[in-house]
Amino acid sequence: MDKTAKLRLFFGLEIPQAIKQRLLQIQQPVAGARWQRADQLHLTLAFLGSVDAGRLPVVCDAARNLPVEPFELTVCGIGCFGAPDRPKNLWAGVQPKEDLVRLHCALDQGLAQSGLAGERRRFHPHITLSRFKKGAGPVTELLQSPEQLVVGSFAVDRFALFQSVRGEQGSVYQIIERFTMMDQGKIDSADG
Ligand code: ATP
Ligand code: MG
Repeated sequence: MDKTAKLRLFFGLEIPQAIKQRLLQIQQPVAGARWQRADQLHLTLAFLGSVDAGRLPVVCDAARNLPVEPFELTVCGIGCFGAPDRPKNLWAGVQPKEDLVRLHCALDQGLAQSGLAGERRRFHPHITLSRFKKGAGPVTELLQSPEQLVVGSFAVDRFALFQSVRGEQGSVYQIIERFTMMDQGKIDSADG
């Protein structure tokens, strides 16, 4: 690969198939909605943006051996960015946020130590379900009892580096590498 080629990168979580299937069932006809396909559903942990392909080894090294333990994540709740009658993005929520924030911060720190700038926007962990063009919506009905949406739980014991490629049918996300999160107790006992 050309080392100066630019890759659009982000770290994120893959979503298990069973959870994806349930998320797809939320879909309803909403004017101007671009619902995410199963292969597009993911949770962004840290957005890098455009990076030289030659820096891929540095990016991957920054994500190895992070001091973050595996945890259980529950997908629940629904919300939107933008006003419900003029939404920009409809999303499913996740709990507990603290574990994801820890993972996000550890990644950010690892990247900063390697001279890679993370995204400065505040981290709002979510799974995007639909994007909307201007003048689309409303999603008011979908948001009537947001807390009633309980999709399911899964174990977060790994994350991935994704490449985002713009396509005619929306962005396509390809996994470049997966990173396993290790139980810190196990790492310590393995050390000695
Ligand atoms: P598209 O831009 O084609 O509508 P997309 O937003 O999913 O699709 P990307 O822009 O490549 O594709 O983004 C990849 C992931 O990173 C998405 O989850 C997106 O929400 C997130 N992301 C994009 N830009 C930022 C940013 N500036 N800060 C934080 N996360 C971002
Ligand atoms: Mg985008």
